[in-house]
Amino acid sequence: MNKDELRHAWESFAEKNDFMLNPDSGHVGMIMDGLLANERDFGLKLCPCRLRDGSRKRDLELLCPCNFKTHDTWKKEGRCWCGLFVRRG
Ligand code: SF4
Repeated sequence: MNKDELRHAWESFAEKNDFMLNPDSGHVGMIMDGLLANERDFGLKLCPCRLRDGSRKRDLELLCPCNFKTHDTWKKEGRCWCGLFVRRG
């Protein structure tokens, strides 16, 4: 998947939701680079901001987009842990 395809997939994911892709394109670009490096190294689109422990269970938790509405950062600050997705409005 190239960067344009990834951005499109993220935008589609956020469409019609109460969150959107972070309007800070530089920040999104950094996350994108980290995620694509993880895909290259581990074969999975893993969150670039959180640590793996090598277990399958943890890798499944780290697949991006994750279930970020369970995170404290969503409840307190309206964003996923990495700030890739932010609350609308
Ligand atoms: S915290 Fe954000 S960047 Fe990390 S996996 Fe979840 S949605 Fe993706």
